[in-house]
Amino acid sequence: MSKKLLFILLVVFIFIVYVLYVNDDVKDSQNNSGPAYDSAFTSLPSPTCTPVPAPTPLPVPSPVMKIEPEELFPGTFFTIYLSNVIDAQMVSVTSGASLGKTKFFNYEDGMVSLVPVDYRSPWGVFDIKASVIGLDGKPYDIINSIKVMEKRFPEQRLIVSKEQQEKRTNNNNLQNDYKQTSQARAQTDSKPLWEGNFVIPLDGPITSEFGLVRFVNGIETGRHSGLDISAVTGTDIKAANSGNIVLAMELIITGKTVIIDHGMNVFSAYSHLDSISVNKGDRVKKEDVIGKVGSTGFSTGPHLHWTVSLGKTFIDPRLLVEKEPLSLN
Ligand SMILES: [Zn+2]
Repeated sequence: MSKKLLFILLVVFIFIVYVLYVNDDVKDSQNNSGPAYDSAFTSLPSPTCTPVPAPTPLPVPSPVMKIEPEELFPGTFFTIYLSNVIDAQMVSVTSGASLGKTKFFNYEDGMVSLVPVDYRSPWGVFDIKASVIGLDGKPYDIINSIKVMEKRFPEQRLIVSKEQQEKRTNNNNLQNDYKQTSQARAQTDSKPLWEGNFVIPLDGPITSEFGLVRFVNGIETGRHSGLDISAVTGTDIKAANSGNIVLAMELIITGKTVIIDHGMNVFSAYSHLDSISVNKGDRVKKEDVIGKVGSTGFSTGPHLHWTVSLGKTFIDPRLLVEKEPLSLN
């Protein structure tokens, strides 16, 4: 092959390459602000994948309130379960029902509160409002309702000596005791410390039921806040459930008294003891002995006055013997 022919072939090759690639690049780069090397692929079939749409944010679930049970008697309690919240405030009632102060605690993936209905609460249907902070950080008011059903507590009439009556009705005595017991119940462990159902702390006949309307020497003095269990002086008294001792001292009205914090605002108290065998700050297990039956304070004979409260509001102690505080129906 002659050099001339080789030269011609080389020129033709260069021309073809120019026409196929370089010339296109020049044209494209004139029409396109993008870099020239990208347009080398413009003649290829377009890719088959579909474009991904811009992600739309997932809707934040709204706060939800569940009340259990929705119908109940004075002297009992209901449970509020809140989900999709990061914080919750006091529950308020629009009108009527007397509820104890509520506290919310983190529970599972939401919050929970045990709310007592005072034994003096009027009957009727009442709105329950929870003010919460939702997962989106915004405040919400959630409204639900409860029905407080009609209940008349029986009356109880006691005759006591003038001296006993004076002790019982002395305002200074009442205030002194109330100050001590209020302080003891002001703080609570945020976790449940109880283990299963509560137990009745003493074997013996129940001589006064919860909620009785009490008349002392013919004068109405209030309600009976717990159960009275009769037994001979010196009988062991057991902790109704596990918890922390938050009060162990002699008071004027209730005599030698022990209060246990079971967590989540659940307290039990034991009064008129002959002796106390625990100290404030102790951790007790369910059925540990905490003291002995006596008749100290305002008492007509050896017995245990046993109460259960949510915060400072008393509820029927039998409720927690039948069912532990957080169990659903
Ligand atoms: Zn009593």
